[in-house]
Amino acid sequence: MLELKKIKGNTYYFPSPANIGLYVSNNDAILIDSGNDSDAGRQILKILNENSWSLKMIINTHSNADHCGGNEFLQKKTGCKIASTQLEKAFIENPILEPSFLYGGFATQELRNKFLMAKPSVVTDFISNSGNILDTGLNAISLPGHFFDMIGVSTPDGVVFLADSLFSSRIITKYHLFYLYDISSQLETLQKLSTLNYEYYVPSHSELCTDLSELIEINRTKINEIIETLVDFCTEPKTIDSIISYVFSKYNLTLNSSQYVLIGNAIRSYLSYLVDSKVLKTVIENNEFKFVK
Ligand SMILES: [Zn+2]
Repeated sequence: MLELKKIKGNTYYFPSPANIGLYVSNNDAILIDSGNDSDAGRQILKILNENSWSLKMIINTHSNADHCGGNEFLQKKTGCKIASTQLEKAFIENPILEPSFLYGGFATQELRNKFLMAKPSVVTDFISNSGNILDTGLNAISLPGHFFDMIGVSTPDGVVFLADSLFSSRIITKYHLFYLYDISSQLETLQKLSTLNYEYYVPSHSELCTDLSELIEINRTKINEIIETLVDFCTEPKTIDSIISYVFSKYNLTLNSSQYVLIGNAIRSYLSYLVDSKVLKTVIENNEFKFVK
């Protein structure tokens, strides 16, 4: 069950596997993300009602289903606005784009699942990826890397919600790989995070904290380790599938189809980063697309 926790002033959050932020001003509530499904939406609405707060807006940090899965229920029940950046809007309103993008074609029925596909909702307001978010008093911070045009959201209470720009050390130790769309942007985002100066930080998939430096280092170290692993493996030309299989075996992970498309896609992004940095190159051998040092 979701539980409301106060962080400071008018800023709250619902701790959960994907933390949900809340900012309340004059009994008007603004959510930062909406949980992973209608059930999360139902629990959030119940808590808002108990406090006599009315939901005015959901700001989605990005379009992954675990962040916008409660949108449809909450918008249907309250008529709330939904705000996101333009590229994320395309996915929020057309959830089929996510499994299609990850798979790289028309996704199988198995992949058109709740984990990769939220129910569609209507984004009423475009927002820029930095600066004031409409007239909410909240601010957007551009945090590209994990997804196309992901943002963090800061409140006037010195709290910043950091979306999926950092993963917890528990997740990194257990799974090693986490989803990244753009490695170069992610490395810049990590650099940017190290310059932020807020009182409280709330990454979606890690604990509330007052200092980010250790978490940034853990994330950066793992990204560099994966880069090294890929470069070392590609001394001979290797196909994508053999690279994915090698990385999963190295970390003792078992593939299921959702992980294959999610992590497989992330590994493709790492490989593009390495090709663009001129560390690897692509070759076609016997009609197989391969990567090599
Ligand atoms: Zn997430």
